[in-house]
Amino acid sequence: MKLAARVDRVSPSLTLAISAKAKAMKAKGIDVCSFSAGEPDFPTPKHICEAAKTALDEGKTRYGPAVGEPKLRQAIARKLNNDNNLNYTAENIIVTNGGKYSLFNLMQALIESGDEVIIPAPYWLSYPEMVKLAQGTPVIVETSADNDYKITPEQLERAITPQTKLFVFNSPSNPTGTVYTPAEVKALAKVIVEQDILVVSDEIYEKILYDDAKHLSIGSIDAEILSRTITSNGFAKSHSMTGWRVGYAAAPTEILKAMAKIQSHSTSNVCTFAQYGAIAALESSQECVQKMLTAFAQRRSYMHEAINAIPQLSCPKPDGAFYLFADISQTGKKSLDFCNELLETKQVAAIPGVAFGMDNCIRFSYATDMETIKEGIKRLAEFVAR
Ligand SMILES: *Cc1c(COP(=O)(O)O)cnc(C)c1O
Repeated sequence: MKLAARVDRVSPSLTLAISAKAKAMKAKGIDVCSFSAGEPDFPTPKHICEAAKTALDEGKTRYGPAVGEPKLRQAIARKLNNDNNLNYTAENIIVTNGGKYSLFNLMQALIESGDEVIIPAPYWLSYPEMVKLAQGTPVIVETSADNDYKITPEQLERAITPQTKLFVFNSPSNPTGTVYTPAEVKALAKVIVEQDILVVSDEIYEKILYDDAKHLSIGSIDAEILSRTITSNGFAKSHSMTGWRVGYAAAPTEILKAMAKIQSHSTSNVCTFAQYGAIAALESSQECVQKMLTAFAQRRSYMHEAINAIPQLSCPKPDGAFYLFADISQTGKKSLDFCNELLETKQVAAIPGVAFGMDNCIRFSYATDMETIKEGIKRLAEFVAR
């Protein structure tokens, strides 16, 4: 059988492959310490589940508008105005099947053959694949640990060509946990406006910030940048709702209409009663978000110190998200070999940096309990020492 050529252009998700291998080992009764999770380890807060159950009981089980329930679009617009100082109305919002589909849909709406999309590395592994699936060309710009894995305005400007359409910006970042300061965000926005390109700001980790880190939504700076910004977000990471598949994009009207058209012929509306859970997530107390943050903060401090205490490993202190990105160059191993050997000999799962465009690093997720973290770090130290 001959499959479509686009299938060969993309790679399967390495994150999911290692996680699946770790899960299969666990299922066989093997004692695995997993740092591979890309999702919070907490259950979805009860009041959110209750709201979805009530919606189910009330018969909210039918097709809804493809762009999302009006009440949820309004609640999202309010949230973006209040929390992020982003001047959007409900008409600028599309509710999507997770933050992932908001990005995928955007690429379909915007990108075609010949278009270049600038992506700083290390990157979330789906970005380049989504660009390729839209026939576009990902332009990868490597950042370095010395600069906390941040792209500089000079690097961005140098990467721009007449073919550049879009810059993909992710702060706080997966896989590094890096958070750009408001001044750094403003400096990037200046380049974007001057060079007249678009930016998609993936803000899925905006609520997971440590110490005095501040999140600035790039679209909030002024009207010039807002007209060139698509903001992507969702409930998966902030409210531990990964399986619910509720995310959203906010965009200027013309782009929003294009995304609505694509959505109407692909996923249609997000599961109707799940959207009612999302309304509750936005409109009730945010105490649950704070509780998770407190747990993440403790683990992050512990992990950061423990990994830097292992000879041959080092990582910058992340300001956000729930990942640490450790440099393994001194071990002389490539990231995939390192992770495979670590899993096979010590039953510790981590994600190879090559999946994120950086082969001298590996990603540890600390979305797991302290006991697993302590045991996993101990085994990791033994592994590196050998
Ligand atoms: C988890 C994640 C998303 C979106 O996840 P969904 O489950 O689709 O909402 C988007 N971007 C990054 C960087 C992520 O880590």
